[in-house]
Amino acid sequence: MSEGTHRRRHFTVVGAGVVGVCCAFALLRDGHRVTLIDRDEPGRGCSYGNGGIIQIGASVPVATPGVLRQVPRMLLDPNGPLVIRWPCLPRLTPYLLRFIAAARPDRVERISVAIAALLDRAIDAFREMLGAAEALDAIARTGELYVYQSETAYRAARSAHDMRRRRGVHIEELSADEVRQLVPAVALSVRRGVFLPDCMTVANPFHLTTRLVEAFRRDGGTVLRETVRDIEVDSDRHVTLLTDAGRHGVDRLVLATGAWSRRWAAKLGARIPMDSERGYHVMLSDPGIDLRIPVLSGDHRFGITPMADGIRVAGTAELAGLEAPPNYRRAEMLIPMAEALLPGLRTNPHENWMGHRPSTPDSLPVIGRAPRIPGAYFAFGHGHLGLTLGPITGKLIADLAGERSSQVDMTPYAAERFQRGDDR
Ligand SMILES: Cc1cc2nc3c(=O)[nH]c(=O)nc-3n(C[C@H](O)[C@H](O)[C@H](O)COP(=O)(O)OP(=O)(O)OC[C@H]3O[C@@H](n4cnc5c(N)ncnc54)[C@H](O)[C@@H]3O)c2cc1C
Repeated sequence: MSEGTHRRRHFTVVGAGVVGVCCAFALLRDGHRVTLIDRDEPGRGCSYGNGGIIQIGASVPVATPGVLRQVPRMLLDPNGPLVIRWPCLPRLTPYLLRFIAAARPDRVERISVAIAALLDRAIDAFREMLGAAEALDAIARTGELYVYQSETAYRAARSAHDMRRRRGVHIEELSADEVRQLVPAVALSVRRGVFLPDCMTVANPFHLTTRLVEAFRRDGGTVLRETVRDIEVDSDRHVTLLTDAGRHGVDRLVLATGAWSRRWAAKLGARIPMDSERGYHVMLSDPGIDLRIPVLSGDHRFGITPMADGIRVAGTAELAGLEAPPNYRRAEMLIPMAEALLPGLRTNPHENWMGHRPSTPDSLPVIGRAPRIPGAYFAFGHGHLGLTLGPITGKLIADLAGERSSQVDMTPYAAERFQRGDDR
C-alpha cells in the first residue's frame, strides 16, 4: 500500500479504455484487488485511434464565445470541423443548450482553470504510471506545433493562446521561417506557428493501453472480456452487474465506459448530459516524409502526428450519437487538408477509423464518487483529452478510494454539477 492504512477492497472497473485501465492499475498499485471488465479487447474503443498527443497546453474548453460565433458557418460546411446529423437534433438539444451556456466568458475562465488543474499534473502522473509499468519509452517529449495558413485563423486563435498563457503554459510564437526550421516538411503557405514545447507524443496509443494492461495482469489484476448488459441497485444500494457471462455482485465499482457511460450513470442514479463527439483518423503507413513533431492545423482544426507505425491525421467532430454507422468521408476529407500542409506526404496506403469521444458540454470530465451509491466512482467524459488525462484520473480515483486528500479540488469534476446547475 503506497500510503496510509486504508482497507484493501475489491474494485470492479468497467471499461478498459485508457481511462479505465489507468484507474485499474492505480487501484491495484494501491493494494486493492481489481477486476477490469470490457466487452472488447482493452484499448479498442476511443483510446485506439486518438491523435496521440499529451496535450498539457489544452486548457481551453471546446465551448468559447469565439467557437459559438463560428458554429453556424461550420455547420453549413459538410467538410467543416463540426457537423451534426440533423435527425439527432431533438436528442442533442439539452446537450447543446448546456454547451452554449458553458461558452459564457466567466464560465470559460473557470472551466479553463479546472482543466489546467488536471493538465498541470498530467505528465508527472504519466511518468509515475508508465515507470511502474516499465513503459516509459511509450512517450516522448516532442512539443506540439499549431500552424496557421491564414491570418484570420491566427487572429481567431489568439484569445485561446492568451488563455493558455494565463494558465502558465509555455508558448513560443514562430515566424514562417522559424516554423520551417522546426518542421522542414511544412508547406510554404504556412505563415505563422505557435509552439508548445512541453507537450508529449505517444508512439502508439493502442500499445500504450495494452502495455498498461500487461503490467496490470503481471501485478495480479484480473481482466474479463464480458459485456455489461444491465446494472441493478438493490434497496441497500448494493450494485450487481449483469453481463453476458452472468451476475457479478460488486464491492466497489468504477464506471469508465467512455462515451457509453450516460446510460450506466443513470442506472446508478446520476443524470449526466454527455454525448458522443465522433472523431475520425486516417493512418498513413508509408508517409514518405520525416515528421518529428505533431502539427495541428489552426485553420481546419485537425492534427498530424508522427507515430511508431506511420503518420496519423486525426480530428473532426460529428454529433451523430453512438449508433449511426461511420461516415468515412469525414476521414477522407482530412487527406487533401493534410497534403496542403505537408506537400510531400504520401497518403496511400491509408486506413480510416472512427471513434466516440466521451464529451460533456462543459469540456470537463466526470471524476469522483457516484452521488447516490456508496462505493461507486465515475471516471468518464474526458472528451478531447482522455489520453492526456488517463493517468491523473487513475491517481485521483485511487486517492478518493483511499480517502487521501489529492491536492486537487474535485468539485468542478463532480457529477453533481449538472444537478446543481453549476455548469450553466
Ligand atoms: C480523432 C480523435 C483524436 C483524439 N486525440 C486525442 C489526443 O491527441 N490527446 C488526447 O488526450 N485525447 C485525444 N482524443 C480523446 C481520447 O481518445 C478519449 O478521450 C479517450 O480515448 C477516452 O478514453 P475512455 O477510456 O474514457 O474511453 P474508451 O477508450 O472509449 O473506452 C471505453 C471502453 O468501455 C467499453 N465499454 C463500453 N460499454 C461497455 C459495456 N456495456 N460492457 C463492457 N465494456 C463496455 C468499451 O468497449 C471501451 O473499451 C481524441 C479522440 C478522437 C476521436
